Amino acid sequence: MAIIKTAKEIELLAEGGKILADILHTVAAAVKPGVSTLDLDHLAREEMKKFGVKPAFEGYRMGNQGPKYPAVLCSSVDHEVVHGIPSHKKILKEGQIIGLDLGIIHKELYTDSALSVAVGKASKENEKLLRVTREALEAGIAQVRPGNKIGDIAHAIQSCAKKAGFAVIRDLIGHGVGHELHEKPDVPNYGRAGTLEELMPGMVIAIEPMFTRGDWRITFLDDGWTVVTADGSPSAHFEHTVAVTTAGHKVLTAK
Ligand code: MG
Ligand code: MG
Repeated sequence: MAIIKTAKEIELLAEGGKILADILHTVAAAVKPGVSTLDLDHLAREEMKKFGVKPAFEGYRMGNQGPKYPAVLCSSVDHEVVHGIPSHKKILKEGQIIGLDLGIIHKELYTDSALSVAVGKASKENEKLLRVTREALEAGIAQVRPGNKIGDIAHAIQSCAKKAGFAVIRDLIGHGVGHELHEKPDVPNYGRAGTLEELMPGMVIAIEPMFTRGDWRITFLDDGWTVVTADGSPSAHFEHTVAVTTAGHKVLTAK
């Protein structure tokens, strides 16, 4: 079952979410050819210091096993879906696409958000992938209101991918968020409308569609973190932390 947050907690999550949005957009604005993904990580780290918030990803371990995540930012280029580890060797090139994923802790509460952008100018196909994945996040968020179910979000997201001829990365999903980075419930990006847990005021979830132009299957790189599409197709990722309110929803990580 999802954890219900108090009005005060949602207020603090919104405060943190606003800071996260500022930091994420500052990092996105620094994306250009010649910049390394480690430069972007350093920038995110400086911004977090400036705002007095803590990184949520650094030191994180999946299921409390495996290697600790060594950076504050996830920077996933082209066929990397998520969890790309920043590196000084990874210099961005014109025409690539990059997913930027950041989580912060503000007053002991977690928010999580991601967006994908082109390095310089992307191909028409990749521009469409970015646009459709962003629109799918919006379509998922539009389903967030009391009485609707997690499956309504999942179905709305999947429908966007299907209409555009893209595939949903099925093995990676959204999640509850707030007291921890990952909480119940799971928020999948495909499924049937009217299924899964019912949305209630006070629930806070991270909705995060990941689409690819190719096949949905993924594989991990040797670093234990980076997730790539198995067929090497480009992938895009957008994410917001969203609170369910009595009136509908509030996007906590909106700029
Ligand atoms: Mg994230
Ligand atoms: Mg997330």
